[in-house]
Amino acid sequence: MRKIAILGSTGSIGTQTLEVVRANGDIQVTALSAGRNIRLLEQQIREFCPRLAAVWDEADARSLRTAVADTEVRIVSGMEGLREVASCEESSLLVTAIVGMIGIVPTIDAIRAGKDIALANKETLVTAGHIIMPLAKEYGVKILPVDSEHSAIFQALNGENAKQIDKILLTASGGPFRGWNREQLKAVRVEDALKHPNWAMGQKITIDSASMVNKGLEVMEARWLFGTELDQIQVVIQPQSIIHSMVQFTDGAVIAQLGTPDMKLPIQYALYYPQRRFLAGERLDFAKIGSISFENPDPETFRGLAYAFEAAETGGSMPTVFNAANERAVSKFLARKIGFTDIYEIIRFCMDGHRVIEDPDVQQILDTEQSVYEIIESRW
Ligand code: NDP
Repeated sequence: MRKIAILGSTGSIGTQTLEVVRANGDIQVTALSAGRNIRLLEQQIREFCPRLAAVWDEADARSLRTAVADTEVRIVSGMEGLREVASCEESSLLVTAIVGMIGIVPTIDAIRAGKDIALANKETLVTAGHIIMPLAKEYGVKILPVDSEHSAIFQALNGENAKQIDKILLTASGGPFRGWNREQLKAVRVEDALKHPNWAMGQKITIDSASMVNKGLEVMEARWLFGTELDQIQVVIQPQSIIHSMVQFTDGAVIAQLGTPDMKLPIQYALYYPQRRFLAGERLDFAKIGSISFENPDPETFRGLAYAFEAAETGGSMPTVFNAANERAVSKFLARKIGFTDIYEIIRFCMDGHRVIEDPDVQQILDTEQSVYEIIESRW
């Protein structure tokens, strides 16, 4: 029986992971972790009976301990709690469905404890890919992508030689503002940005998709996962979100993975890799779809994409600055304290002011994140 632990079980990816577990019935959940949503975590504890569960705040942990006193679960809290969940002895795979750079340290712990990683938390690779990928190799653990585009690339590479990749064609829907100009983007409201045309996701990634910063983060993630050069990654707009990404090989052949937009597919693929399982849901009906269209992205308007390539090219601590600046800017946008295009201004300002650390260790990454937050708080 597969045994898994989940970081971020109450979020969009976390709950869909548990839907996959529920539908299959042959995966044991050994540990769960949540941030603040202890009501949902309590329900998950009662349904999936993990031995360990973590919440961020110790006061929440105390309430939860009382609420689930009739069960066997042990409740822990804070970073130590996340680390315990990540490396919990019984599990063989960790699903990293937590949001933000908070995922780095627990992921490293899990790798050191020999767990395979089903990786949704893209911030881990964006900021610490140079640490994570060699470590995974050293410990012989698999990094199984959960992001739909990276899962598509991973599936296209099945049985292929990654050295024969000519380029990765990373598809993007273009988000709700595809075709808009800079002036139009300025007027975007929170509720407009939260309406993704094809995917239902957590709030932060939905805003990132609207700004196309998400695609930039995915470029950085792909580079680490598949060991390609940046200029081998091309972003292609495919508005219907039917092609989840493609790989072009050195002989010119292009292999793509297609499907309806449902995160349960890449989640399940990562949980059961290399097996495929039945997954209920809509199937593609090509006659109904009629056509699939393609466009180039517009990095002049969606500047986050251009800045992401620049941050990735610079390397070192710059991707951390890009990620942290965006993270804080998005939370300010969601709190209606700044406008939509201010997200780009904030990223640009933080990148311009940063002195790059060439090969940052985890502490330097986390310190960089903190200093970016402080700069933003002092100005916006
Ligand atoms: P959500 O915001 O929906 O969920 C985030 C999860 O992290 C929640 O369980 C939340 O707990 C938990 N969390 C947040 N802060 C803390 C904390 N300080 N300590 C412990 N737990 C915390 O995010 P998503 O599921 O959308 O995204 C998760 C990751 O997956 C992100 O990195 C995202 O980029 C990536 N991803 C998501 C996709 C999607 O379709 N949603 C697609 C591809 C990648 P709580 O809610 O209890 O506070």
